[in-house]
Parts: sequence; structure tokens; C-alpha cells
Amino acid sequence: MGVRAGIFGVLFVAAAGVGVASLHRRPVWLAILFTLGLLAWTIIEYLLHRLAFHGFAPHYEHHAFPTDPVYIVAPLWLSLSSTAVLLALFSLAAGSLAAGASIVAGVIAGYMAYEAIHLRIHSPAAGGKLLRALRKHHYYHHFASDRVCFGVTSPLWDWIFRSVPLERS
Ligand SMILES: [Zn+2]
Ligand SMILES: [Zn+2]
Repeated sequence: MGVRAGIFGVLFVAAAGVGVASLHRRPVWLAILFTLGLLAWTIIEYLLHRLAFHGFAPHYEHHAFPTDPVYIVAPLWLSLSSTAVLLALFSLAAGSLAAGASIVAGVIAGYMAYEAIHLRIHSPAAGGKLLRALRKHHYYHHFASDRVCFGVTSPLWDWIFRSVPLERS
């Protein structure tokens, strides 16, 4: 896990470096693209969990062994190849590698936050108010109904797509 986080740290620095080197004269633009990447991660996280993990690529193992990090952190081949595909897509969509890399830096930051938060949620550490709120949301998905509460780093897309517990919708 440490190695995976390290590789993603290097990728993040590389992507952010390309963005900063190319767009340093337009810091606002750089910040907007990075924020877009963060936001893109939140919807990727939601759709991945809802459509893949509870659809065509079920994550039974994580639901059976919620605290086992092996089933929390994605395998490196998957996260690295997905990052390459996203870099190509965002660079094409945004019109340059610099813009694409700036967006992908945000996506990587969001992804790393997701892995860290998901690990923390399933760790015995109580955490602060925010972590406890996220844990409550995620535990509902684990232990009450796996048809709601797909967001891990935020309940944003659960609110938008109304995949919230009945009593709270
Ligand atoms: Zn979980
Ligand atoms: Zn799940």
C-alpha cells in the first residue's frame, strides 16, 4: 500500500508539474482545472461504486471483509491504466496535455483522498466530526442497505441521484 501511494504521489507531482510549468501564467485557470479534476473524481467514485462494484464487477470481498485493506485499495494495474486513459481523454477534451494533466492532478488527489478516507472509515480510529459523519453514511451502505449511500468521500452524488436512505430522502 505504501508503494502504491508512493507511485501515485510521483504521478501527482508529475501531472501537477506539467500543469504548473505550462499554465503558470494563468494560475486561476490551473486552479479551475484542478478543482474540476477533484469534482470529476467524486462522480467517478460514485459511478464506479454504484455501477461497477454493485453491477458488473461486484466487490463482495469488501462487503464480507470490510476492514481488510487488500479489498479497499485498488490494484495498481487498474489504477495506473485508468489514469492513463483519463489523461488521454481529458487532454483531448481540454485541447492540450497541460490542461489534461492539470485535471488529472485533481483526479489523482481525489483518488488518494478517497483511499485514505475509506481506510480511515474502516479503521478503529474514532476520528473527528467529519470522519464520523462519513463513516455513518458508509456504514449505512455496508450494514443497512447496499442500494444506497455509494459516495465515500462525500454524499454529494447520493443527494443528487437520490440514493439516500428512505427515512432521509
Ligand atoms: Zn467500505
Ligand atoms: Zn459497496
